[in-house]
Amino acid sequence: MLEADEVICCAGRWTPSLAAVPLIPWQSSGSTAPGLVVRVGPVAPPGPVRLLHTPDLAVRPHPGGLLHLEAEDAAAAVDLHTPEPELRRWAAELLRRARRTVRGLDDARVVTHQVCVRPLPPDGQSIVGRLPGAPGIYVAVTHSGVTLAAHLSRLIAADLTTGTPPAALSPYTPARFTPTPLDPGRLDPGRLDPRPLDPGPLRPSARPGAAPRAP
Ligand SMILES: Cc1cc2nc3c(=O)[nH]c(=O)nc-3n(C[C@H](O)[C@H](O)[C@H](O)COP(=O)(O)OP(=O)(O)OC[C@H]3O[C@@H](n4cnc5c(N)ncnc54)[C@H](O)[C@@H]3O)c2cc1C
Repeated sequence: MLEADEVICCAGRWTPSLAAVPLIPWQSSGSTAPGLVVRVGPVAPPGPVRLLHTPDLAVRPHPGGLLHLEAEDAAAAVDLHTPEPELRRWAAELLRRARRTVRGLDDARVVTHQVCVRPLPPDGQSIVGRLPGAPGIYVAVTHSGVTLAAHLSRLIAADLTTGTPPAALSPYTPARFTPTPLDPGRLDPGRLDPRPLDPGPLRPSARPGAAPRAP
């Protein structure tokens, strides 16, 4: 057993099973949380070395001379229950779009495709801060973990070491979902209501496939 003054719960999509914060339920059919990731290759001659976003495709280089592909409409069309032939059809479609977008894919094939789950808060915004009604529990969950990890980690370190949340974190507090302190019984994940309790001063929801730009 390790003793700690505060514990940061950063379990991604599994966070609601550990701390009373809402995420878009990802197991259900029709959920917008899952997204399709497709890897294609070989890319010869070598392809893009940076991120590339077009209206119908996101491309980034992947180790081993591959490209990693995603698309918003593919993400919206699949979930954890999508049949394999449908996933393969989407994977082939993303490869087709990639061939239109970058050079070097004439001999490429789909190497892998997988439905992965994004931790999507219901308002599209990160959830970062101390959990009301649960002393010692600090939550950090975001769909924008790749983009924001470095920045968020500095803000969280400042919050934990000074005890004063940086102003930049105030819109993202878990308290926005809990207008009154939780009683301990509410921490039972089986009883969690995934909907925000109080939309309050929230920003408009992000598009399902797009990462929020702010923390
Ligand atoms: C399809 C897709 C698209 C994405 N798009 C973007 C994007 O556009 N921009 C962006 O910035 N990011 C994007 N991401 C990243 C993603 O949305 C998250 O932000 C990122 O994965 C969060 O990282 P994390 O470390 O918080 O959580 P995770 O990477 O999910 O890690 C959580 C960890 O907690 C562990 N865990 C869970 N439960 C327990 C437990 N009880 N005890 C111990 N450990 C536990 C898990 O095993 C896991 O290792 C995307 C991801 C996917 C899959």
